[in-house]
Amino acid sequence: PLSLVWLRRDLRLHDNAALYHALKSGRPVVPVFIFDRVILDALEDRLDRRVEFLVQEVNRLHDELAKLGSTIIVRYGKPVDVWKELIGQYSIGDVFANHDYEVYAKERDKAVGELLSENGIGFHTSKDQTIFERDEVLTGKNTSYTVFTPYSRKWKNTLTDFYLKAYPTEKYVKQFWQTDPLPVPTLNDMDFQPVGEPFPGRTVADELLDSYNKTRDFPAFPHSTSQLSIHLRFGTVSIRELARQAKEADDQTFLSELCWRDFYFQVLDHFPHVEQYSFRREYDQIEWRNNEDEFDKWCRGETGYPIVDAGMRQLNTIGWMHNRVRMITASFLCKHLLIDWRWGEAYFGKKLRDYDLSANNGGWQWAAGSGTDAAPYFRVFNPTAQAQRFDPKGVYIREWVPEVDQSSYPRPMVDHVMARQRAIDTYRKALAKV
Ligand code: FAD
Repeated sequence: PLSLVWLRRDLRLHDNAALYHALKSGRPVVPVFIFDRVILDALEDRLDRRVEFLVQEVNRLHDELAKLGSTIIVRYGKPVDVWKELIGQYSIGDVFANHDYEVYAKERDKAVGELLSENGIGFHTSKDQTIFERDEVLTGKNTSYTVFTPYSRKWKNTLTDFYLKAYPTEKYVKQFWQTDPLPVPTLNDMDFQPVGEPFPGRTVADELLDSYNKTRDFPAFPHSTSQLSIHLRFGTVSIRELARQAKEADDQTFLSELCWRDFYFQVLDHFPHVEQYSFRREYDQIEWRNNEDEFDKWCRGETGYPIVDAGMRQLNTIGWMHNRVRMITASFLCKHLLIDWRWGEAYFGKKLRDYDLSANNGGWQWAAGSGTDAAPYFRVFNPTAQAQRFDPKGVYIREWVPEVDQSSYPRPMVDHVMARQRAIDTYRKALAKV
C-alpha cells in the first residue's frame, strides 16, 4: 500500500511536516492535489490569479517529482468524491495532511477522515503552516488570547529554535513511489484563463530585513515589504524558514508580521463565528447604510480620495495592495461610507492574490472596529492625513491615479468631517443598545 500526502496550502517538497511523516512511514509515498470544485465553481471571474498560481506550482511539483522518478496525483472535483475514487483506484495504507483552520476546511477534513477510516485507512494530520497553533500560545489562565500585543509577547518568548527546525524531507527522497508521471489538468480544463503576469519571487532579501521596520509603511517603495504573501498563502515557502531568517537577522518587526498571521489563524480556529459575524457581537447592531452606488465607486477607485483610489486600483490591476493602504481603504468603506465590512471583505476576497480568510477577516474586522484588536470606534482614519504621512510626495498615488491633478479627477464623494461624525454617531447608537 501507498502513503498519500494530500497537499492543500503547503505546495512544497522541502520542510513539509505531513510529507516528512509520510516519508518516514516506510511505504512508497505519492502526493495528491485536488482542485476543489466547491471553491473553484464559486469564483465569478474566469481570470483568477490564485488558480493560475496553483496550476503553475502544481506543475512545478510535478516536474520536481518526475526528476525523482515519481509523480503527483492531481484531480479536479469535490474532495470527498475524489477520495472515494482514489480509494477504489489505489491500495492506500495511510493519508497524511497538514492542519487547516477555516470552518469549511475543518468540515472537509472531518468528512474525508471519516471516509478513510471507514475504509481502514489512517488519516494523520500535523501542524505546518503556522509556528504556533490552537492551544500552543495561551494566557496564564489557559484561555486564548484576543489581544495581539500580549499574544505576540508570549509568542516571541516561546519561540525557541526547536519550533523553527526544518523537517528534513530531502533525506528520504528514495521513499517516493517510483512510477511514470501522471497528467495535470490545465487552466483551460477547469474553464479558467491565464492573466499571464509573473508572480513575485519566493525569497526575502536580507536588505529588506535590514530596512523593513523603516520602509514597511510606505507604499511607494516597490520593495518596502516582502510580497511573499501569495507564497505563504499556498505554502510555496516554509513559514519556519522565513521566521528563522527573521530571527537570525533580529528583525522584530518582520517577526511581528508573521506573528499577526499566526494570531489571526488562532482567532479563526477558536472563534469560528468571525467568519460570519463580528468578533464582538454588539457590533452587529450597527445600522450600515450599504449604498450600492457608493460601494461601486469604492470598488472602482473613484471616491475622490486619491489614496483610497490608488489602493483600489492597485488591487484591481495587480491583485495585491500594500498593507497600509488596505487599512486606509477598508476603514474608508466601513467608517466614511458606513458599508458593512462583510461587503469589503468579500470584494478583497475576490481580488487578492494572497486572499486568506483568517488575515482578511482579521484585517476587515480591525478596520470596522468589531474585531479582536480594535481601536476605539471614535478613532476614524483621515485618508488625506494618512496620504500626507505615508505617501508624502504622492509617488504611490500618481502611479495608480495618474489623472489626480487634472480636473477630470472626481471631487471627494463624501466630506471627511461630516462622514467622521456620522460614523461616530452611528457606532455610538448601535453600542448604546447593548
Ligand atoms: P510583509 O509586510 O512582507 O509581511 C510578511 C508576511 O507576514 C505577509 O506575507 C503575511 O503572510 C504576514 N502578514 C503581514 N501583515 C499581516 C497582517 N496584518 N495579518 C496577517 N498576516 C500578516 N494578508 C493576507 O495574507 N491575506 C489577506 O487576505 C489579507 N487581507 C487583509 C485585509 C485587510 C483589510 C488588511 C488591513 C490586511 C490584510 N492582510 C492580508 C494583511 C497584510 O496586508 C498582507 O499580509 C500584506 O500586505 C502582504 O504583503 P507582503 O507579503 O509584502 O507583507
